[in-house]
Amino acid sequence: MPQQQNPPRSTKELGRLASIQVDSNTPIRLYFRSADLLIKQARVYKMEKDYQHAYVLYMKYTNLGLKELNNHAGYKAPENKKARNTITKNCNEALDALEVMKPILEKEYQQYVEQQQRKQERMQQKQQQQQQQPDIEARHVQQLKGITAQHQYKIDQGDTQQNWSLQDALKDVAGVGYNERPFVHAETSTDSITKYPTTAFENKSDGYLYQPHHQQQNNQSFVRPPLPPKPMSPESRITTQAPAIPPKVSLETPPFVPALPPKVPKVTPVAEPLPEPSLPADLINSSGALTERGEPLRRLIVPSSLQDRFISIAKPNTNRNIETCGILAGTLKNNVLQVTTLIIPKQTGTSDTCTTENEEELFEYQDAHDLLTFGWIHTHPSQSCFLSSVDLHTHCSYQLMLPEAIAIVCAPKHNPSYGVFRLTDPPGLDVISSCKIERAFHPHPDLPIYTDTHNTSHVLTQAQDLKVVDLRR
Ligand SMILES: [Zn+2]
Ligand SMILES: [Zn+2]
Repeated sequence: MPQQQNPPRSTKELGRLASIQVDSNTPIRLYFRSADLLIKQARVYKMEKDYQHAYVLYMKYTNLGLKELNNHAGYKAPENKKARNTITKNCNEALDALEVMKPILEKEYQQYVEQQQRKQERMQQKQQQQQQQPDIEARHVQQLKGITAQHQYKIDQGDTQQNWSLQDALKDVAGVGYNERPFVHAETSTDSITKYPTTAFENKSDGYLYQPHHQQQNNQSFVRPPLPPKPMSPESRITTQAPAIPPKVSLETPPFVPALPPKVPKVTPVAEPLPEPSLPADLINSSGALTERGEPLRRLIVPSSLQDRFISIAKPNTNRNIETCGILAGTLKNNVLQVTTLIIPKQTGTSDTCTTENEEELFEYQDAHDLLTFGWIHTHPSQSCFLSSVDLHTHCSYQLMLPEAIAIVCAPKHNPSYGVFRLTDPPGLDVISSCKIERAFHPHPDLPIYTDTHNTSHVLTQAQDLKVVDLRR
């Protein structure tokens, strides 16, 4: 399946999408894992020559590694030395990659802008011709009356052409005028790339109507009547009054381009992070699914055999009324996430909990096999299919790292016996990530905290191979 080409965006805009914030209340190990997931995804996108995605993720990695992680209380702890060294090494890899990709992206963007200018110009010419059509018909009537309007027609034609302005011509060019769009503030998610406008969203599970941060700004139809000439703002005073072919203008003049951070062996503050911006859906979206906030979710493919395989592996525990859990791992390809491997880590379970042990071994296996973490699956040996308060906190860690992460619950004694869930965002992800209650089971606010994401465009169940790795043996 070939990757659908996104319209090019300026490196300035892509840089804005890479803003990331660190919250000291979130355990540092989650940030290390998030960083790892970021750079692994970035490598895939770069290898696939999807430089826009790669640029954002590498840039995000350097923002995290060179600046934001220093704000976390736990970052400098002696036990994290190895992880810090990994971050430093990967930051240099990221900076190298950014250096390579930046000129390519800028060239593509420049070509795209010029192409859009030409397209816009052709449309305006066509529009002018259409507008002149009624005049011509009127003239025929007048000519029948013996009156010629030829002189007037020439004047009309001249007037229309003078209405052309570069400012209007650039109105529909992607990436131009983005500064006019309002920014939304950063959220606590460590891995969420996007903030972008949408319309109100109704949660399918609860009927709750979520208000968007702001409305779509850029939805005017492509064809519009010519506007009267107007004074240009100082920023846009970059051209002449000339009609016909607009002059080539550099829309990415050096002062506006965010400089790549300098390569440094040790962490050093770099440029101030820009406000977390709006991201057009086409940049990251491949499923059409959105979070409640309106952020796009990539498609996650789950093998149809997963449920049965897992239930059969868990059966000895289930018969003893003990939970079993597994990790959903897989690959990123063409902007689609695919679960390829079910890993059963070493664990201890009770009738209503399951705790993984020796996570190092799990990560080592994933590293060795280039597997990303897409979520988890567990059984409810006697309870029905839902996410307990403990499950919500477990899943929150996964979803903070990857917005597409899912939690699958198998409840063999109940109907439905199978549920695929994610935290709503908002309000679920914020509610759970900011909940500091330590007790095992505790109540949460009566809000739609999680939602069923089974059979949505986010999660697609398909007949695919599934490898099972049982690390308990
Ligand atoms: Zn559970
Ligand atoms: Zn809680």
